[in-house]
Amino acid sequence: MAKIQAIRGMNDILPDQTPVWQFVEDTVRKVVASYGYQEIRMPIVEQTDLFRRSIGEVTDIVEKEMYTFDDRNGDSLTLRPEGTASCVRAAEEHGLLFNQTQRLWYMGPMFRHERPQKGRYRQFNQVGVECFGMNGPDIDAELLVLSARLWRELGLAEHTRLEINSIGTAAARQEYRAALVTYLSGHKDQLDSDSQRRLDTNPLRILDSKNAQTQKILDGAPCLDDYLDAESREHFARLRELLDAAGVAYTVNPRLVRGLDYYSKTVFEWITDSLGAQGTVCAGGRYDGLVEQLGGKPTYAVGFAMGLERLVLLLQALELVPQKVNSDIDIYVAALGDAAVTTALTLSEQLRTDLPGRSIVTHCGGGSFKSQMKRADRSGAEVALLLGENEVNAGLVTIKPLRSDSAQQTVNQNELLGALDGLMGQ
Ligand code: ATP
Ligand code: MG
Repeated sequence: MAKIQAIRGMNDILPDQTPVWQFVEDTVRKVVASYGYQEIRMPIVEQTDLFRRSIGEVTDIVEKEMYTFDDRNGDSLTLRPEGTASCVRAAEEHGLLFNQTQRLWYMGPMFRHERPQKGRYRQFNQVGVECFGMNGPDIDAELLVLSARLWRELGLAEHTRLEINSIGTAAARQEYRAALVTYLSGHKDQLDSDSQRRLDTNPLRILDSKNAQTQKILDGAPCLDDYLDAESREHFARLRELLDAAGVAYTVNPRLVRGLDYYSKTVFEWITDSLGAQGTVCAGGRYDGLVEQLGGKPTYAVGFAMGLERLVLLLQALELVPQKVNSDIDIYVAALGDAAVTTALTLSEQLRTDLPGRSIVTHCGGGSFKSQMKRADRSGAEVALLLGENEVNAGLVTIKPLRSDSAQQTVNQNELLGALDGLMGQ
């Protein structure tokens, strides 16, 4: 019978890969905590309408990337393609937004039906950060210094660069959109087919087309910057001032727009040039209109989402994967015979209590001492403890150092801790 395999684009993360994931996750936790952000956890499935109404009907995500299905009772549900909409829904539903400021973060899997390739998967993980109730641009700047700190902590500061832009208010964008469409319609034949299609649906997205010919035509297009309202312009100028003061380097990319409908004013992307086409590792911006769009009171909001797979790929490509694994084995306990197996179980338990932070593997499944020692060696443990029938009857245990030349010794079980103390490193 054919074996069942994982779904295309949905990856297993195997034990030899989890250390780098844990490194990224632990670092994220540490950094967001140092800025006073609080974790929120949302369900993975939401009403389809939540994403339709927030991300926008004519975006790539809603048009062709969502995993949507009917629940048994006929409700249309969707596996979340991103976290912002869910976070807004949850914060609104539980009254976290009314007259308050909130700094929230979350981490977890997202789902998009895209063509799988390096750095692009159908199930992938994001860390998201969302701030509510703050007008900015101080909080916009905080998000950027926070992410810059994260790159430093991960060792990626030299490999990421920041692009920022302001896309103004919805009204300013409306006006610009009309001018852009007028200009591009005159060159429609020369645009790539995706951009031709977007001319009617989502013309702003044409600005970040990767097609060289389209890019050339865009060189002559009207500039979004010229259409910005005064307030957005001021907001953006002050943001740049704050970033300069904080020493966060950036370039202004006037063609940077985001794929989601809900952004306004500030947008940004952290990009790496070390991963090829899938180079955006973190993207976000201000979305002051979204809470109201989803039925809440007008609420200032700004946030970003980071793709963890791309960060992991980057760490691997740069060989920055941490060597020391927190699940490293310290002690391997081997036992031969029923009485010894019983002692191995209880002695191991006692060691876990006495030596917090140490990792102790109790051999299970029987076998000769020789085969158990092979396993002990492969486990990477620093020392093995051997319990044979004679030892157990006499209340003894044999300590066998596996990584040094120190001699094997047999001690009384109640002297074990003292004997181990001298043998094992920190
Ligand atoms: P892209 O232009 O690469 O498709 P996007 O604009 O769709 O990105 P966002 O929705 O802003 O991306 O998501 C934020 C981040 O999540 C991205 O910058 C990227 O790091 C990551 N990401 C998005 N889609 C995927 C995916 N299919 N697989 C892996 N990571 C992803
Ligand atoms: Mg995308």
